[in-house]
Amino acid sequence: TDVPRIQLNDGNSIPQLGFGVFKVDPAETERIVSEALEVGYRHIDTARIYGNEEGVGRAIAASGIPRDELYITTKLWNDDQGKAQDAFDASLERLGLDHVDLYLVHWPAPERGTYVQAWKSLEEIPSSGRTRSIGVSNFLVPHLEKLLAETDVVPAVDQIELHPAHQQPETTALARANGIAIEAWGPLGQGKYPLFELPEVTGPAAAHGKSPAQVVIRWHLQNGTIVFPKSSSRERMAENFDVFDFELSDSEVAALSALEREGRVGGHPDEVN
Ligand code: NAD
Repeated sequence: TDVPRIQLNDGNSIPQLGFGVFKVDPAETERIVSEALEVGYRHIDTARIYGNEEGVGRAIAASGIPRDELYITTKLWNDDQGKAQDAFDASLERLGLDHVDLYLVHWPAPERGTYVQAWKSLEEIPSSGRTRSIGVSNFLVPHLEKLLAETDVVPAVDQIELHPAHQQPETTALARANGIAIEAWGPLGQGKYPLFELPEVTGPAAAHGKSPAQVVIRWHLQNGTIVFPKSSSRERMAENFDVFDFELSDSEVAALSALEREGRVGGHPDEVN
């Protein structure tokens, strides 16, 4: 499967569909990521705080897939914001890689007052070749505005909670106006609200002979959003990757977009410190 790529503002590009490993048990990560690579995923999204960078790295090494065919993201945890260079080195070491493709400030953690400092440290990494791109995660309008005003490099991406019930229109508009690509975390709403039972989802699923999860992933893709749904089951990994043989109509996309109800399922970025 040829996964479409999204062009980033720094000249690099990213596979639009990947595999996320939040809450994937570190002891099982090597097996699960190996299965994801067998299914066809080439973009893996991890983070220091997930505790499973080693398993991701072992699966990559065992796969024999050429490094330049893979796209690997990891993230700076909040309590490392004051020592981003060291934290980045430690993540690379755990992954067993000489570079990642994307390194993100995981949360603004505004109470710490260190995200601008952290970003200035990240700005220095790409010239060393140890990450191709840098970006942020969970940055809402005030955090993005502060970064844009006080630093030199515009983030390549902002990875935010985004699904039909929580679409974050203000943040996505500001990001897109500044050339920042949007990555959706919790693209399936983390299974926390009955998304897959709503007629706006089940209707197109029946019409196209696809599953509810495939319809929601397709909605993200047609909106230009980068997604990496998580599943520990090989069957669902394959299901979530099998989304390039159908297209939602404009009215199906619009009906899904009308499900917005500020339904945040994760933490608020001002409160995760
Ligand atoms: P998700 O929306 O991908 O939901 C995952 C859950 O949905 C699974 O555990 C399973 O219960 C269900 N599911 C998956 N495939 C399914 C299918 N085909 N049919 C039915 N149910 C299915 O949530 P997520 O894992 O939180 O988000 C995806 C990735 O985003 C994470 O793995 C991680 O990489 C990233 N993430 C980032 C942040 C951040 O702060 N930057 C926070 C959370 C997640």
